[in-house]
Amino acid sequence: MNLLDMVREAGIVGAGGAGFPTHAKLASKAEYILLNGAECEPLLRVDQQLMELFADEIINGFTAAGKFVGANKAIIGIKGKHKKVISILRDRIEALQVADFVQVKEIPDIYPAGDEQVLVHELTGRVVPEAGIPIQVGCVVLNSETALNIYYASIQKPVTQKYITVAGDVPRSLTVKVPVGTPIIDVLKLSGIENFDNYKVIDGGPMMGPVMNSLDGYVTKKNKGFVILKKDHYLIRKKSVSLEQAKRVNKSACAQCRMCTDLCPRYLLGHEMQPHKIMRALNYKLTDIENQKIAQLCCQCNLCELFSCPAGLHPKSANLYFKDKLAQQNIRYKPNKSEFTARKSREYRLIPSKRLIARLGLNNFDKPAPMTEIELKPELVYISTNQHVGVPAVPIVSVGDHVEIGQQIGKIPEGSLGASVHASISGKVVEIENDFIGIRRG
Ligand code: SF4
Ligand code: SF4
Repeated sequence: MNLLDMVREAGIVGAGGAGFPTHAKLASKAEYILLNGAECEPLLRVDQQLMELFADEIINGFTAAGKFVGANKAIIGIKGKHKKVISILRDRIEALQVADFVQVKEIPDIYPAGDEQVLVHELTGRVVPEAGIPIQVGCVVLNSETALNIYYASIQKPVTQKYITVAGDVPRSLTVKVPVGTPIIDVLKLSGIENFDNYKVIDGGPMMGPVMNSLDGYVTKKNKGFVILKKDHYLIRKKSVSLEQAKRVNKSACAQCRMCTDLCPRYLLGHEMQPHKIMRALNYKLTDIENQKIAQLCCQCNLCELFSCPAGLHPKSANLYFKDKLAQQNIRYKPNKSEFTARKSREYRLIPSKRLIARLGLNNFDKPAPMTEIELKPELVYISTNQHVGVPAVPIVSVGDHVEIGQQIGKIPEGSLGASVHASISGKVVEIENDFIGIRRG
């Protein structure tokens, strides 16, 4: 079995949150392989700790993936502020004798440094074309937890566990490894909060993560963190505004000051994304489809909505409105050129994470979330067959079957994009329904 087959068998998906099947990424040939260790979402602390605790495994997984795609260079991108981790990585790269291939490059502490396109630019100077992906400029990007999982795949260990940070307005911020399929509420309670009546939870980072409507879900391979805040926190109120409400507010007050555009990371990379134009189209009911199409260039980093707009408006939501409308009509933005260069003003307009954290009202909660040895042992896990980009995995077990931890229980349908799923505990299959496989420990 080659590495790609091992990665496919192990059910690895991008651990950065998007859930793109990793074997599909490794199927391309690339000049660069890049490790995304930016972890730019405030309060999340998974990647920086994994790179410190599992430096050898991550470097080995990353190197193997880089060799597999035929890369000339492998670059680990990590914020310069993580001095200890950088020093460990550099030492281990030397010790593992891969320094002629792998290097560590420090990136600035800005948001969104972990956006794939921003990372590609920071590490290679190249700009991914509008509506494009990194491979178009010869790059494959992997998250650090994904590289760790690639290493495990190479020793026949599939993905059955997930590292998660629990942070926010909580007695105890922490990072923990839990079985995929664990009830989310069990993970949240590790924060020291038992009753969530006065709290809301953001699934993921404070910038891009949505506020959860219910805490009844189960951990998937895509989860990276949960941020718990009081219901009346600014961020919760702002993120809870519906698209309809956002549309109404947007119509009333946009001064066309352009701040949203001037600070937009995609605009600064030389793309046409200009949220103030989308606001104009919304407010004046402009029908020019060409102008509306630029909404499809938005990566939903939320900077315009949560930081840039002085009037507290919702330009990202305006983008979402047009994105949705155009998708219904099957209209796609087509770039009118293939090469892009970052705008000259970019270097003066990068947003330091510290300023962002202050603006979000998260200063008090910006603290370490140390990796713990806590072992959650859920009696029942519900493993989603649909926790990745592509089509759901097809169950290959039946109710009543006994399964062992690590056993494949769902596979990728023939000829489709997807990821297989594995039992995260040993026990009996008790339910197969609604894209979930339930396993009771025992
Ligand atoms: S949405 Fe806000 S930042 Fe953008 S142009 Fe309007 S007022 Fe200015
Ligand atoms: S969310 Fe706003 S700032 Fe981010 S890419 Fe979209 S338009 Fe630009």
